[in-house]
Amino acid sequence: MAIIRSPNEKHSFSAETAGHLPAWVNPDLDRLMVIKKVEGDFRSWAESLVDLPAGAVFARITGVTPVSLPSWSSVQAGRNLHLELNSNLVFVNHSCAPTLEWDMERMEVRVSRNRDLRKGDLLSFFYPSTEFEMAQPFDCWCGAGDRCFGRVEGAAQLGVERLGGYWINGNLSISLLPKT
Ligand SMILES: [Zn+2]
Repeated sequence: MAIIRSPNEKHSFSAETAGHLPAWVNPDLDRLMVIKKVEGDFRSWAESLVDLPAGAVFARITGVTPVSLPSWSSVQAGRNLHLELNSNLVFVNHSCAPTLEWDMERMEVRVSRNRDLRKGDLLSFFYPSTEFEMAQPFDCWCGAGDRCFGRVEGAAQLGVERLGGYWINGNLSISLLPKT
């Protein structure tokens, strides 16, 4: 006889077992990242609590709410689909030399393919890799030197040439192709 499990039951490990499972199996962002904030300031950032090799899955993106209009905190997942994250992933800032890649088709966050992730590293991703048009373009102070765009906008505004060398979501790549 088949045993029917509720969707939640899959992740209800005992506390003892859960501690030994990788955090992308037992979703628990608190074991993956720590949020830092400057007292009396709006600045905040996230740092890694784990060492992972380049390209490894860092976290699954779960518990999101779809919204039709982008905001400063939403992440684009399709042409007209934007997601509010409802989790500490919202504290992952933009960098022009990011440590993470956000794959919105697979709903997973991976370590950038060109570098390992070390405990204490700033967690960042390249916002134009998910945003076709950015709700609020901004001046960038990511500290990536020559690689910093200076002004960060959506993929559509930056254009396909300037995005060369960056991993970006498949739905954006298709939208960016010249129309023939
Ligand atoms: Zn930058």
